[in-house]
Amino acid sequence: MRSNVPEIFGSMVFNDAIMRDKLPRDVYKSLKKTIEAGRDLDISIANVVAIAMKDWAIEKGATHYTHWFQPLTGITAEKHDSFISPQSDGRVIMEFSGKELIKGEPDASSFPSGGLRATFEARGYTAWDPTSYAFVKDGVLCIPTAFCAYGGEALDKKTPLLRSMETLNEQALRILRLFGNTSVRRVATTVGPEQEYFLVDRNVYNKRKDLIYCGRTLFGAKAPKGQEMDDHYFGAILRRVQSYMEDLNDELWKLGILSKTEHNEVAPAQHEMAPIFDTANIAIDHNQITMEIMKNVAKRHDMVCLLHEKPFAGVNGSGKHNNWSMITDEGVNLLEPGKSPHENAQFLLFLTAIIKAIDEYQDLMRVSIASAGNDHRLGASEAPPAIMSIFLGDDLNEVLECIEKGTSYKNQGAGRMEIGVHVLPTFPKDSTDRNRTSPFAFTGNKFEFRSCGSSMSVSGPNTILNTIVAEELRQFADELEKADDFTDALNELIKRTIKEHKRIIFNGDGYSKEWEKEAGKRGLLNLPTTVDALPTVLLKKNIELFERHRIYTEPEVRSRYGIQLDVYSKTINIEALTMIEMARRQILPAVNEYVAKLAKALSLKAGLDPTFKTGMEKDLIRKLSMLEDKAYQQVNELEKLLAKAPQSDTSEAGDEILTCAVYYKDKIIPAMEKLRSFCDEMEENTEAKLWPFPTYGDLLFSV
Ligand code: ADP
Ligand code: MG
Repeated sequence: MRSNVPEIFGSMVFNDAIMRDKLPRDVYKSLKKTIEAGRDLDISIANVVAIAMKDWAIEKGATHYTHWFQPLTGITAEKHDSFISPQSDGRVIMEFSGKELIKGEPDASSFPSGGLRATFEARGYTAWDPTSYAFVKDGVLCIPTAFCAYGGEALDKKTPLLRSMETLNEQALRILRLFGNTSVRRVATTVGPEQEYFLVDRNVYNKRKDLIYCGRTLFGAKAPKGQEMDDHYFGAILRRVQSYMEDLNDELWKLGILSKTEHNEVAPAQHEMAPIFDTANIAIDHNQITMEIMKNVAKRHDMVCLLHEKPFAGVNGSGKHNNWSMITDEGVNLLEPGKSPHENAQFLLFLTAIIKAIDEYQDLMRVSIASAGNDHRLGASEAPPAIMSIFLGDDLNEVLECIEKGTSYKNQGAGRMEIGVHVLPTFPKDSTDRNRTSPFAFTGNKFEFRSCGSSMSVSGPNTILNTIVAEELRQFADELEKADDFTDALNELIKRTIKEHKRIIFNGDGYSKEWEKEAGKRGLLNLPTTVDALPTVLLKKNIELFERHRIYTEPEVRSRYGIQLDVYSKTINIEALTMIEMARRQILPAVNEYVAKLAKALSLKAGLDPTFKTGMEKDLIRKLSMLEDKAYQQVNELEKLLAKAPQSDTSEAGDEILTCAVYYKDKIIPAMEKLRSFCDEMEENTEAKLWPFPTYGDLLFSV
């Protein structure tokens, strides 16, 4: 029996309908104003909201509350406090105050701060983000909050995101006013993150130390069957997976998460869930919850949900397509090509701002998606390359070419539109949506940033997108506000911007080698790894950008840079240690056992009759002994290299931290790859029964 969706939808969320229902009229109105205008909440109002929220949460089975926040670890954090308050007669009552709702002071000294907290204040505090609704999860009232140091420095991923939404709002409004729009009051960014994931059987998973410690396999010969038949993509969903998805949807719907589409992905055991888009901060909160719930629900089904960007070599990894647009409080999508010349001009202005933004801040776009896990995926013929470019589709591309050359657009269909002398068609959505190799593709009325990794919070990528687009809109507004003739200035600006930044537009195959060459000729950045990309964040133009828009102060930029590099080195360190343990304690003993078995068979046969042909045993013993030896040497080598790794300290985001990360990239990763190749070859030659853990075949076809 499936549940009644409209009935359960949002049933665990303290949403607008509940607030209207439970709060006195004036309190509700005042709260709404705070939410819409982003103003501070009055404490007397907060007290009333807190009581209503607590009573509602208790009805939903909550006994505790938590300020739910997003520290720089990339996952969410919560510390539960119960509502109980002791009375003089030995009993307790359930209490929750406005103060507790608005502000929390978790002892958060163990969260990464990149030295920020040490420099300023020891403690951090959390502050309610009333624009994202509170919800009840596992008996706990969760209040979405931002997390800051006492000096106000952001220690989380939500604060800069909210700041970036604010600056984009300000600059987009300036542009809309120039187009004569006096009624619009807010521009919000919208996000729809498509989430990919793998499901494996829990018993199989539990036998793999690499999956347990690292979330990805570090060894494993290719299974005879992978994704080459293309029989998994959009294929019929297995019963077990279907029942997982049904449960997942129920859980997500209860939390007001608009889970919409589900299907099998390209690799065996790979799936995807896409929600309906929402305002950026809400969509990102929801995506963080979604990832957590995906894992929890899998456990109930005796499966494990893998969110790593590359759990298996040789088959596709997982990404998170970040669909992004801007919407006014009047419901107008600013990336929807318009129906009148006026609307079209406005659309083209926003579009060219984005083109300029991506071109000028390719480095930040690349930085925003950088992680050790995502490095395995980018450019591996399954995901966009590490080179940033924009896909516009043929129609739109032709329009821009005509504008640049000053010729008129040929393809004058029924829906043609004019801007000045230029004619613009309506863009059939389907004709633009089919380039899957571009990192940043226009898909009819939004952009899709396809390079994001599946496990990452998309706060970072959206913070960058909002900020760089805000910066270009600021420059455009500065120029246009001064113009004597708006239309002339507008046409000139659009034309000039296309000319100067068209190199970032690429409509061909982003996976091809030719594109890499071509991009090099165009002078586009190619930053293949996290370590290549991250230092660009410290460039003067980038720090200036962040400071101008009050997204990060320079110390905040440096702290985040340090943390990202540190996480990179630590991730690879854990992987290398796991490899050493698996090779020494599992793989080498297993192979040795097989060699001993072969040797025994050999001597038995020779004992029976010395003239017997014993080619197989001798061959395998020779081959495996050699590989064993190589693997053994390589384990020792890897261990030696690890011991020599430079030490670094995040509290000083100095050069050592980069030196350390470079060492892991240049020395440790190649040594790991070498060890893996010996071990995978041994796997292919060792008796299956003796292999110490499940193979790729067992894993990929375990469900
Ligand atoms: P596909 O990319 O598979 O063709 P869609 O284009 O319909 O599918 O949508 C993909 C994702 O983009 C969904 O999560 C959807 O909600 C989201 N999306 C659609 N419109 C917008 C928008 N204006 N802003 C942000 N995300 C959007
Ligand atoms: Mg899509």
